[in-house]
Amino acid sequence: MSERFDVAIVGAGVVGCAIARELSRYTLRTILIEAGRDLGDGVSKGNSAVLSTGADTPFGTLECRLVARGHERYLAEAPAMGLPFLPIGSLTIAWNEAEREHLKAMHEDTIAAGFHSADLVGADEIYRRVPELASGALSAIWEPDEGIVDPFSTPYAYALDAVANGVEFRSTCPVEGAQRRDGAWHLSTPKGEVVADIVINCGGLAGARIDAMAGFADFVMRPRRGQFIVFDKSARPLLSVVLKPVPAPTYRGILMTPTVFGNILVGPTSEEIDDPDDSRVTREGLDTLVAAARRMLPRLLEHEITTTYCGIRPGTDRPEYRIIPRRADRWLTVGGIRSTGLSASLGIAEHVGGIVAGEMINAARKVATSAIRVPSLAVGGERPWRNGGAGDAAYREIICHCEGITLGEVRDAMASPLAPQSLKALKRRTRVMFGRCQGFFCGARVQALFEQLSKGSSP
Ligand SMILES: Cc1cc2nc3c(=O)[nH]c(=O)nc-3n(C[C@H](O)[C@H](O)[C@H](O)COP(=O)(O)OP(=O)(O)OC[C@H]3O[C@@H](n4cnc5c(N)ncnc54)[C@H](O)[C@@H]3O)c2cc1C
Repeated sequence: MSERFDVAIVGAGVVGCAIARELSRYTLRTILIEAGRDLGDGVSKGNSAVLSTGADTPFGTLECRLVARGHERYLAEAPAMGLPFLPIGSLTIAWNEAEREHLKAMHEDTIAAGFHSADLVGADEIYRRVPELASGALSAIWEPDEGIVDPFSTPYAYALDAVANGVEFRSTCPVEGAQRRDGAWHLSTPKGEVVADIVINCGGLAGARIDAMAGFADFVMRPRRGQFIVFDKSARPLLSVVLKPVPAPTYRGILMTPTVFGNILVGPTSEEIDDPDDSRVTREGLDTLVAAARRMLPRLLEHEITTTYCGIRPGTDRPEYRIIPRRADRWLTVGGIRSTGLSASLGIAEHVGGIVAGEMINAARKVATSAIRVPSLAVGGERPWRNGGAGDAAYREIICHCEGITLGEVRDAMASPLAPQSLKALKRRTRVMFGRCQGFFCGARVQALFEQLSKGSSP
């Protein structure tokens, strides 16, 4: 049996979820289809979590415009959804004369492009902000408006908002074929056919493959692996801003940044790979990251490593985003969102929403919408046991001691309209097993709880 929608969004990464939220503001029947068991389990789960202003993207491009707009909207709209943004600022540092000259030119271009908050600063200011920085820094661009966010809760909040406002979400539902007939797209999935007037392909690493199902072949994927090291929370006092090297033309380099969860992150590497599933963390990758830490923030290496991970950028054979509105075919590709998709997500959503609901369907904007709020997982965020929830015994029973997560918070996550469908998803929703012990102590209990709550039993 097939169902008919106005719009089918394929892929529930941060981009697809943001677009779903945007379209939920219109009188449209929209479905968000995800191959995996949970949303946000693709590229969107493995990034640096820096919210860029756009000042480090190629000026004059669609990407630059959408990152700047995404940043602006995130600051305006994320707090109401419970999403944290820490405006810690970034320093892009020159370590030699050639880099100093390059940075000067970069700064002039940055100001000319309209990013007026970017400031060129000298060594005194750099060391005032990062006293533990290795010696030898000459100058830097200080960008005060950059910050850090929760990369896991962001797509979740967008999707929760979309569902609260009428979007249907279907997981474990890979699109396997696409045919246009009888004035609509027919998407075949193991859960039956989905029929939609318009399809938006937000398939991340599968973007070109999904386009090919519909007969489009505008680009080929060139996945690029990025490895990271997460240092313990004990290292956090060493760094309170994002540190970046002077970028190369196609690679922004290895950065060091605090996370909203209280760790220090070093990465990513940049390695072209053939297999988009090759998410290995390698000896060479880790050596590269350790060398970068030693060069820039040597005392970081006195601290323990909590974990390592890897993200794969959905790069293509083109440097630009591949946002292709095929108005006549009623198929939009939103692909190649490589390195800035988290920052640009709300900008991309607005851009795509304008094309779909403004130009292609002419849908009316809803008068009223429902609001949602996700739990705050950032350090110092509102927690139920701090804010009046202490009367509930489940908020007094700690499950994950490293991150201080209670039984009540796990229970609440499992009761969400978008309940996590895997242990990994439960980690991303609550931070259980994300701490120093990586689940060594709490893993068995969390697993049992997950199974119990998935069946609808009480904890
Ligand atoms: C190493 C690294 C560092 C980064 N750092 C930053 C940063 O600091 N700041 C920033 O703004 N951005 C950063 N990014 C970029 C950002 O993470 C990406 O741009 C963004 O996550 C891309 O989201 P997406 O929704 O396009 O893709 P995805 O998250 O991969 O979503 C695509 C979804 O489509 C689903 N799918 C695939 N095939 C099908 C199918 N046939 N049917 C249904 N569903 C399907 C997948 O399962 C997946 O969930 C970084 C990326 C990497 C890899």
